[in-house]
Amino acid sequence: MPRPALAEVGEGGNSYRVSIEPVRILLVEDDKLLADAVGRALTQSTYAVDVATTGDEADAALSHQVYDLAILDIGLPGLSGLEVLHRLRNRRSQLPVLMLTAMDALSDRVQGLDAGADDYLTKPFDLPELEARVRALLRRGTGASPSLVHGQLSLDTSARRVYFEGQAVELSAREFAVLELLLMRAGRVVSKEHMVNHLYGWGDEVGANAIEVYVHRIRKKLEPLGCEIRTVRGMGYLVERTVGESA
Ligand code: CA
Repeated sequence: MPRPALAEVGEGGNSYRVSIEPVRILLVEDDKLLADAVGRALTQSTYAVDVATTGDEADAALSHQVYDLAILDIGLPGLSGLEVLHRLRNRRSQLPVLMLTAMDALSDRVQGLDAGADDYLTKPFDLPELEARVRALLRRGTGASPSLVHGQLSLDTSARRVYFEGQAVELSAREFAVLELLLMRAGRVVSKEHMVNHLYGWGDEVGANAIEVYVHRIRKKLEPLGCEIRTVRGMGYLVERTVGESA
């Protein structure tokens, strides 16, 4: 179901509209069954996914569209995945690339990493593993520091610690994960469903109610520090982008 491009934020006379831009992923895979399965899983996690089934299609898409990440199979008809990657890096793109390789193709992995792939997965792989790699790459972004800065708050995403003006703020691991999801997509609405999908794997069922509890706790700790989490009724939560924060 397509989501509206604009959402109403705020209440009463203070409402205004914000755009909801999903994270865009280019999936390059010529195996149709695999492409369908991966595409479906990523779409359910609310990423916007374009699929290319040949190297030439992938090269054209990467030349003309803006993506947040590419998942690139190495063995492709036409241009090989490696050649697509070479061309991408020759255009000085720092797009995070997760490469897919056949199990026995060690030389592909070595060549792919040499050519500038950020990570690789060997087929066959589990979808949760793929999604975990995707999240890690999106967090890492284009090799910038592993911290998210929001106003006076900074999240050290490697150490899983939060600081306000340099002083540590105590958040539980789950509160941290929820806050991280919100700040990674600052300026965009994050649905509870998206959060549930991303926090799945904590070892127990995480439902929408649990998300509400975590958001409530984070608010109690962070609102006095100037970090506001807005509720966008029927859609999810939103943290505004702060000055200087990049998209
Ligand atoms: Ca292939």
